[in-house]
Amino acid sequence: MSERAERRGTGGWDDVLESEQYLVAPGAEWRSELYRIATEQFERAADALGLEQDIRERLLEPRRALVVNFPVRRDSGVVQEFTGYRVQHSLVMGPTKGGIRLAPGVSLGECAALAMLMTYKCALLGLPFGGAKGGVRCDPNRLSGAEIERVIRRYTAEITPIIGPDRDIGAPDMAAGEREMAWIMDTYSQEVGQTVPGIVTGKPEALGGTAGRAPATGLGVVFAIEALLEHLGWELRGQRVAIQGFGKVGSVIARELAARGARIVALADVSGGVASEAGLDFERLSAWVAEHGFLRGFPGGEAVGRRRILEFPCDILIPAALEQQLTEENARDLDCRLVVEAANGPTTPEADAILAERGIPVLPDVLANAGGVTVSYYEWVQDIQRERWTTGEVIARLERQMRDATRRVLAAEGRGADWRTTALALAIERVAEASRLRAIFP
Ligand code: NAD
Repeated sequence: MSERAERRGTGGWDDVLESEQYLVAPGAEWRSELYRIATEQFERAADALGLEQDIRERLLEPRRALVVNFPVRRDSGVVQEFTGYRVQHSLVMGPTKGGIRLAPGVSLGECAALAMLMTYKCALLGLPFGGAKGGVRCDPNRLSGAEIERVIRRYTAEITPIIGPDRDIGAPDMAAGEREMAWIMDTYSQEVGQTVPGIVTGKPEALGGTAGRAPATGLGVVFAIEALLEHLGWELRGQRVAIQGFGKVGSVIARELAARGARIVALADVSGGVASEAGLDFERLSAWVAEHGFLRGFPGGEAVGRRRILEFPCDILIPAALEQQLTEENARDLDCRLVVEAANGPTTPEADAILAERGIPVLPDVLANAGGVTVSYYEWVQDIQRERWTTGEVIARLERQMRDATRRVLAAEGRGADWRTTALALAIERVAEASRLRAIFP
C-alpha cells in the first residue's frame, strides 16, 4: 500500500498514531491485495486530475461498513457462526449499489475495494448510484441449498438497517444469482411488511427482474469492443480472440463475437483450456459444456493449460473469470494486441506497467464490464416506476450507453494517460464535483 494511502484518514491525530502502541494504522482495516490495487489505480487517476487532498481522502475510504456475525443451523442440527459484510463506498451520488457474494475469501478489504470500483463504474456510466459490495464468508460448495437459503436470509436480516431501495440495493455476485436475489427480496419485504422489488436487482422476471439482464455484462463488453475497434480502425471480422472464463460473462462474449465474425482461437474455464488456430465452433462448444458441465475434453480443438491460454497468440485477450490473472509473472509473455477486462480486477498495477511499456492497451473493467450494473439500473428504474421494458428496449439502451461511455473515454485519451486512468479520472471527477457542491456537513 502506498505511503499516502497508509496515512489517509488521520483526522489530525498523526502524532499520537505514529507512536508504536497503535498497531493499526489509519485505514489499515481495509487492507487487502485488491484494496492495494484499487487505491493505486485511484491515486494515479487522482494525480492526473490534480484532485485536492481533502476530496481525495474522502473518496479513498468507504463511508460506511457493517460487519455482522450470525448463527445458522446446518442441516445436521449443528449451529455454525458466519461473518458477513456490507460496505458502502460513496453516498454522494444517490443510493449505493453492488453485488452480494458467497465465497471463502470474502473480507472487509475485498468488499471495500470492490465497492470503490462500483462507485466509479456507476459514475462513468452516468448511473445515479454510489458503489457498495457485500457478502458472507463461506464455502458455498459445502452448503446445501437449504443452508444457503438460511445464510442469505439471516445475512439480509442483519444488514436490513442499512439497506433499502432508496439506500443500498443488492445484486448477484459470486455464488449468488436469481434464486438468492429472490430470497433477499422476500426477507427484506417480510421485515418491512410490504413487497419491495427494488431492494435487489438480478431477480427472476416473475418478481420484477428485467428482460435482458442475463446477457447484459457480456453484451456490454461486446458493444465496448465494437466502439473501440471503430476508433482504432480495426475490422472485428477475423480478429483472433482468446477468452479466459466460459461462465455468465465469457460465454456470451464468445457467442456474440463469433456471431460478428471474430475467430475464437482459445478458451478456458476452471477445468482447462482449448485452442484452435482455425477458430472454435461456438455451437459445438456450448453443446459440449451443456452436456459435460466443463470445457475439458472438448474434441473440437487442442487441449491447453487453463493459464496457457492467456499467452496464446491472438489479437484480443479477454480475461472473463478471476481477479489478478495478468501479473508481473506473465505480462511479458502475453501475445496479444489488446486486452479487454471483462472480469473485475484481472490486471495488477505491475502488469499494467509492463503492458504499457510493451504498447498493449487495456480496456479497463470499470468501463468494459459496466453493462451488468447498467441493466441492473434499468431493472431498479422499472421496479420503482412499476414499468416493464422489452428485451429490445433494454438492449438498445445498453448499446447506446456502453458506446457513449467508451467514446467518452477514447475522446479524453489525448491527455496522455492510459484508458484505465482516463476512465477512472472521468468517473472520479463526477463524484468529486458532487462532493464539492454538497460541501461539508455541518
Ligand atoms: P461465472 O461464475 O458465471 O463464470 C466464471 C468462469 O470462470 C467459469 O467458466 C469458470 O469455470 C471460470 N474459471 C474459474 N476459475 C478459472 C481459472 N482458474 N481459469 C480459467 N477459468 C476459470 O462468473 P461470471 O458472472 O461470468 O463472472 C466472471 C467475471 O466477470 C468476474 O470477475 C466477475 O466479477 C465479472 N463480472 C461479472 C458480472 C456479471 O454480471 N455476471 C458483471 C461485472 C463483472
